[in-house]
Amino acid sequence: MDATDADVIVVGAGLAGLVAAHELTSRGRRVALVDQENAANLGGQAFWSFGGLFLVDSPEQRRLGVKDSFELAWNDWQGSAGFDRVDDEDSWAVRWARAYVEFAAGEKRSWLEGHGIKFLPTVGWAERGDLRADGHGNSVPRFHIAWGTGTGVVEPFVRYAEQAARDGLLTFHHRHRVD
Ligand SMILES: Cc1cc2nc3c(=O)[nH]c(=O)nc-3n(C[C@H](O)[C@H](O)[C@H](O)COP(=O)(O)OP(=O)(O)OC[C@H]3O[C@@H](n4cnc5c(N)ncnc54)[C@H](O)[C@@H]3O)c2cc1C
Repeated sequence: MDATDADVIVVGAGLAGLVAAHELTSRGRRVALVDQENAANLGGQAFWSFGGLFLVDSPEQRRLGVKDSFELAWNDWQGSAGFDRVDDEDSWAVRWARAYVEFAAGEKRSWLEGHGIKFLPTVGWAERGDLRADGHGNSVPRFHIAWGTGTGVVEPFVRYAEQAARDGLLTFHHRHRVD
């Protein structure tokens, strides 16, 4: 398959691009995955990251006595984002943010587990902000560390992309910068 035969061109083989590519190839779409870096950089920043994942009202939090909810997390998110043009320039950002917090309070944990990603029993408190309920940052701990840290998060999606390439559904285009 040539890049021009692909149904979708995904620009960037970081975690976002790899997940998007998997969502597409698992539905039979043909993907050209383009990245300015070489094959050793698959996974982008996430490969180097700590792999701390934002989850809301998880079993790990409850075990530690952390009381969390969608409402609290959405309130925290808005405190950090400071959306002030909700009917105008911020409208899509607000929709995306709310959908993401719903995902984090809902199917995100089981979705990740479905890809073999599991969590350490502790929950960290990254980006705790100014410690006010209506201020910047997470008012409770939400930083769930994946086993294997960032490499553990990236691994299944690299594996899927490589399998999709073998199946003829995905082509890698390393060292190609999109302008
Ligand atoms: C050290 C470190 C620790 C971190 N720890 C955490 C953490 O614990 N928890 C957390 O949630 N987040 C963490 N982050 C942030 C998180 O890793 C990133 O937000 C996330 O990985 C971004 O993924 P992405 O796919 O959107 O972008 P990227 O990983 O940046 O991927 C973008 C890709 O696009 C390619 N690209 C860019 N421009 C072009 C172009 N013009 N043409 C072709 N290709 C292009 C790049 O080469 C890259 O591969 C950390 C980041 C770092 C660096």
